[in-house]
Amino acid sequence: MISAVLPTYNRAPIAFVSGQGSWLLAEDGRRYLDLGGGIAVNALGHAHPALVQTLSDQAAKLWHVSNVYRIPEQEKLAELLVDRTFADTVFFTNSGTETAELAIKMARKFHYENGQPERIQIIAFEGAFHGRSTGAIAAAGSEKMVKGYGPLMPGFTQLKWGDHDAIRAAITDQTCAVIIEPVQGEGGIRPVPDQCLKGLRDLCDATGTLLIFDEVQCGMGRTGRLFAHEWAGITPDIMMVAKGIGGGFPLGALLATERAATGMTAGSHGSTYGGNPLGCAVGAKVVELVSDPAFLAEVNRKAALFRQGLEALVAAHPQVFEAVRGEGLMLGLKCRALNTDVVKAGYDAGVLTVGAADNVVRLLPALNIPDADIAEALTRLDLAASATPKAA
Ligand SMILES: *Cc1c(COP(=O)(O)O)cnc(C)c1O
Repeated sequence: MISAVLPTYNRAPIAFVSGQGSWLLAEDGRRYLDLGGGIAVNALGHAHPALVQTLSDQAAKLWHVSNVYRIPEQEKLAELLVDRTFADTVFFTNSGTETAELAIKMARKFHYENGQPERIQIIAFEGAFHGRSTGAIAAAGSEKMVKGYGPLMPGFTQLKWGDHDAIRAAITDQTCAVIIEPVQGEGGIRPVPDQCLKGLRDLCDATGTLLIFDEVQCGMGRTGRLFAHEWAGITPDIMMVAKGIGGGFPLGALLATERAATGMTAGSHGSTYGGNPLGCAVGAKVVELVSDPAFLAEVNRKAALFRQGLEALVAAHPQVFEAVRGEGLMLGLKCRALNTDVVKAGYDAGVLTVGAADNVVRLLPALNIPDADIAEALTRLDLAASATPKAA
């Protein structure tokens, strides 16, 4: 008999009752060190005092009003994001996949308004993940996500990852936009080299193609800059943000330049819940805390510390691990053993990690993880590695 919850997940038999910082408490009383962070969502750990305060203050005042009215909390968060990024304007959503939907619509509308309605083709990359809506699965195009769901929305091409010549060849007079994660998350923590992002920017400029960055996973301080593309010294036309921005409250944002937003006039898009006072109050607090240069400097220091420990871990378990990858606190352990076995051994050792494609184990800890918890994480990962069945 089918479970009451639609069985679309292979769930571990653990349920949590509370969280504090980088720790989660399970029903059975066991404590787990959380290096999954709800998949890069709990950017400031669990029950961060300032977020709890902000959420409860706002909850006592006003949860929801329609977007047919001005929403001051939404305006405040939008202004913060505009102030701290390339963007001139922001639309709020409740998830990452909704930002993919708007990114696609906005990019096509841009060319339509500019008298080139034939420019509808969007270039994406193998291994990409942009969400689960029918548009987002068509964009990423992976067999696993699209099988049985056809017909897919037309207008997407997937290119091999990291092949610059292929991108050059694929851009035609029908190309609308290129969509790319500066660091692939689900695809296995694969950072796009800065040179490639720069080359992509040049190529888009030369061909009038819009550049869309999906920073749903790699953004919000995760790589040690507020947004990952900042390392490359270039900016996109459109950027998708979600996951970390709500610190655990469902919130997403689509950022754009004024030029890219041409045509997004009253009535052209909308959302009932998107940009509600509760979510935006929390989001503004998260952005304030994470965008502080002193906070980001700490992320980089912690990341160096963690990475050094992980390099030693990999060296100590050559039959389990092959290499460390990633940027900042968006880290991956490329495995020789099965990544799912490593994750499972982690449960027994009281440390939570998440798998990714390419046989990678992802480590997405709270950005404010204390140094002592990093040390404890390394101890527990070492235990887990020792208990992991070796590669055949
Ligand atoms: C998680 C994710 C999404 C989808 O976000 P949802 O909130 O699950 O809809 C899109 N893009 C990237 C890069 C992601 O990691």
